[in-house]
Amino acid sequence: EGAINRIAAGEVVERPASAVKELVENALDAGASRIAVEIAEGGRALIRVTDDGHGIAAADLPLALSRHATSKLDGDDLLAIHSFGFRGEALPSLAAVGRLKITSRAAGSPEAAQIRAVAGRVEEVRPAALTRGTVVELRDLFFATPARLKFLKTERAETMAVTDTIRRLAMAAPEVAFTLSDGDRVLFRADPHGDPLDRLALVIGRDFRADALPLDAERDGFRLGGHAALPTYSRGNAAHQYLFVNGRPVRDRMLQGALRAGYADVLAGGRHPVAALFLRCDVRLVDVNVHPAKTEVRFREAGVVRGLIVSALRHALAQGGH
Ligand code: ADP
Ligand code: MG
Repeated sequence: EGAINRIAAGEVVERPASAVKELVENALDAGASRIAVEIAEGGRALIRVTDDGHGIAAADLPLALSRHATSKLDGDDLLAIHSFGFRGEALPSLAAVGRLKITSRAAGSPEAAQIRAVAGRVEEVRPAALTRGTVVELRDLFFATPARLKFLKTERAETMAVTDTIRRLAMAAPEVAFTLSDGDRVLFRADPHGDPLDRLALVIGRDFRADALPLDAERDGFRLGGHAALPTYSRGNAAHQYLFVNGRPVRDRMLQGALRAGYADVLAGGRHPVAALFLRCDVRLVDVNVHPAKTEVRFREAGVVRGLIVSALRHALAQGGH
């Protein structure tokens, strides 16, 4: 069991940023309105995620650490996934490769409880003090799998990857307040706005607001929203390209290619468009969980999606250019 969990853990948790992604997605799934993330040493020494979501009942804490014991499956339709997580793999994986401590108070419960696991060894549930929500603390990531430790980059690079992950999740959930800190250094802060464009401008840059063209197009059950910047706002790299499918940040070659193609006529070589594309469709038209950590997606009708994005961008750019 321990060995299986450590192997599976390598799939789900490649680096601190992937652990942060899983923990923040759990907080979002729990309906949190405020999420605070603290890290030390790029997340290798410490990742602590505090949320004000619905919490976990004491009796369910051991379950949260056992494999494939998700509370989020929707009947038996594996593809009908409405929440971020569904595999029930993240917490057991994290428990297998570090020192994990979960403290939680279920909504309506008179007291909080805590469970710890060290390198896959799960301890007894005990009473704890917490007014609401959940605190998940992961220390010494990969101390039980030294081979993985070697693949980590510098503290600075890991901190940047964590920050990028939080920014993307913050764009996907503009109604939620986020903070990311390292000791007393605040690396990112987003107040709850409710206005998605405010959140985009916070991440991309304040002037994005003025240079952003709104997108709103639909084709065969796929709906595209978001904002695309004028060509003059383009950059020398693709860092400011944000892609979301059904509210979930993704990295996907096909979507990136469609974004590039939409700008092909108006951008010189070497320039990269800046945009945040939000694609929505019936959950049965897309598989967002091809790989647990890599945030790939697979569409039933990739050609339709590509055509929708390219034509919506061309249309918006043609209108916005004059
Ligand atoms: P999944 O998210 O795929 O269900 P995880 O291993 O990430 O699997 O989490 C296991 C379970 O623990 C979840 O299904 C959920 O019931 C519970 N859980 C984890 N994190 C939180 C949280 N922050 N708030 C409330 N419940 C949580
Ligand atoms: Mg999860």
